[in-house]
Amino acid sequence: MIPPTCPVHLPCDLTSALNALREATATSRVLAGGTDLMVEFESGRTRPDLVVDVWQIDELRGITAEDGGVRIGALTTCAELVRDPLTTDILAEAAWTVGAAQIRARATIGGNLGTASPAADLTPVLLALDATVHLVAADSSRDVSARDFLVGYRETARRPQELIHSVFVPQRATRERRGFRKVGTRNAQAISKVVLALAATSDGVGTVTELRAAAGSIAEKTIELPSVAATLVGLQPTDRLLRAAARCGRDDCRAIDDVRSTASYRHNVAERLLYTLLHAITDTPA
Ligand SMILES: Cc1cc2nc3c(=O)[nH]c(=O)nc-3n(C[C@H](O)[C@H](O)[C@H](O)COP(=O)(O)OP(=O)(O)OC[C@H]3O[C@@H](n4cnc5c(N)ncnc54)[C@H](O)[C@@H]3O)c2cc1C
Repeated sequence: MIPPTCPVHLPCDLTSALNALREATATSRVLAGGTDLMVEFESGRTRPDLVVDVWQIDELRGITAEDGGVRIGALTTCAELVRDPLTTDILAEAAWTVGAAQIRARATIGGNLGTASPAADLTPVLLALDATVHLVAADSSRDVSARDFLVGYRETARRPQELIHSVFVPQRATRERRGFRKVGTRNAQAISKVVLALAATSDGVGTVTELRAAAGSIAEKTIELPSVAATLVGLQPTDRLLRAAARCGRDDCRAIDDVRSTASYRHNVAERLLYTLLHAITDTPA
């Protein structure tokens, strides 16, 4: 429950929201779709001293093409990500796996970042796509890479007075291929045990020139798997090389045991999925 003494603001524009956040502390909360936060409030795990409900702010909505990429407003829901033609393929795919239709109609991309859950499904994709988070406060604004934004377990680089305004996704490089896979206890409406997202670029003869791999639900936060790129960049993939890259990615995972799965299951699945996805996005024969 929101404590009865807690002020709740319902601004209709960005300036009013940022003014309301001037007094925010580490226990204050921005409320977007509420699919995470209402659970937190009801369980008593979060007892805010200030709530700023941003749901009515149109300036935080919409997906627009910009120079060099696409800007996605923080209030863009998973349902909108799925149906908007400007959404990057694997981001739409990940959004489709979030909860059921009712959750997707409320769950926002800003909330998925803001909650910084290790099991968030959109954040590994944002790391693989090299996305940037745009933060605004009453007197300042800044851009932080999605990688640096996710600091730790449910911890972000956002300051209490800042709002996640939008996410910028750079446009696809020539010959860039991407892959996404989520593994849960079942195929629909499942919290992830392992999520992987990859983006790889090759030159005209098939040499990998750039690669980003990210994993969710495995460690305490969404992480990058830098050894996959270190193993493959500058080389033409072969089955043997992809096996080695998947094994290195497994070592990057630092998987944890928790209520959703065991570290050993996560390591095994991550390695297997990395191998399969790498094959698919590099067109390497088995
Ligand atoms: C039944 C159910 C199933 C779910 N299934 C999945 C799933 O499959 N995959 C998945 O990834 N998630 C899942 N979730 C979690 C949740 O739906 C997502 O994390 C969602 O993206 C959160 O968005 P929201 O707008 O509801 O965030 P909220 O609950 O409103 O906020 C979440 C956090 O982000 C902060 N925040 C939100 N917006 C901003 C902003 N603009 N600026 C600064 N801070 C902000 C809030 O202060 C809060 O700390 C599920 C939740 C439920 C209840």
